[in-house]
Amino acid sequence: MEHKLDLQPLALPGLELKRPIIIAGPCSAETEEQTLETARQLAAQGVKIFRAGIWKPRTRPGAFEGVGTVGLPWLKKVKEETGMFVSVEVANAHHVYEALKFGVDMLWIGARTTANPFAVQEVADALTGVDKPVLIKNPVNPDLELWIGAIERVNRAGVKMIGAIHRGFSTYDKTKYRNNPEWQIPIELRRRIPELPIITDPSHISGKSEMIAEISQEAMDLNFNGLIIESHMCPEKAWSDASQQVTPQHLGEIKQNLVVRRSAI
Ligand code: PEP
Ligand code: MN
Repeated sequence: MEHKLDLQPLALPGLELKRPIIIAGPCSAETEEQTLETARQLAAQGVKIFRAGIWKPRTRPGAFEGVGTVGLPWLKKVKEETGMFVSVEVANAHHVYEALKFGVDMLWIGARTTANPFAVQEVADALTGVDKPVLIKNPVNPDLELWIGAIERVNRAGVKMIGAIHRGFSTYDKTKYRNNPEWQIPIELRRRIPELPIITDPSHISGKSEMIAEISQEAMDLNFNGLIIESHMCPEKAWSDASQQVTPQHLGEIKQNLVVRRSAI
């Protein structure tokens, strides 16, 4: 049974979120300099919404788990210096409170969090009544109901500006993708909730910088609403997801070459 969602179009103050919505920035904020310099270069490519992971959910312990709250003032500087809007991943109530305290404009729930209804509910409760866009990544496993359940939990907390991020699905099979796109799943999500914007994450789908352009185009050809792409000023030195990040210049080329034919459904 479908529950009626109470959604509003995504909006940021003074910025109309038109298709294609482009969000770009490093997998992780690493240092103040890397965050600011990457942001400056992306702003020069016409990017208006910056992403950077502050708290990083890593598969295995011992990897870089994000700089944490110390990185939030860097994002504030990104806003002040470049005029871009900033977005971060939140995985618990503490992340939500900290991000909102530092004026983060847009939040997203990561794939590992979406897979856990208790964690989603905690984030949703912390977001009660928040009038900012919240994007919800698909769960790591190909479970559309779990994805919709997370969207419902956040919407029931009074958040109306919700978008979905399609970042592909884990598989044990060896494929050319890091996470199998299973395009039929976001297509079915759109059929079920037509007013929900869907943003494709070619970085986590492909795992490879050289595949970003083709997956971005596929997403546009399928009439999805936007892209979230990892971009780092020096991808080979990135502390997380080095192989899938593109330079801001490469991002600019991908953006320029995108053919956006139809308007969003
Ligand atoms: C990310 O966006 O850097 C991230 C951790 O992605 P996902 O939740 O899709 O794995
Ligand atoms: Mn990443």
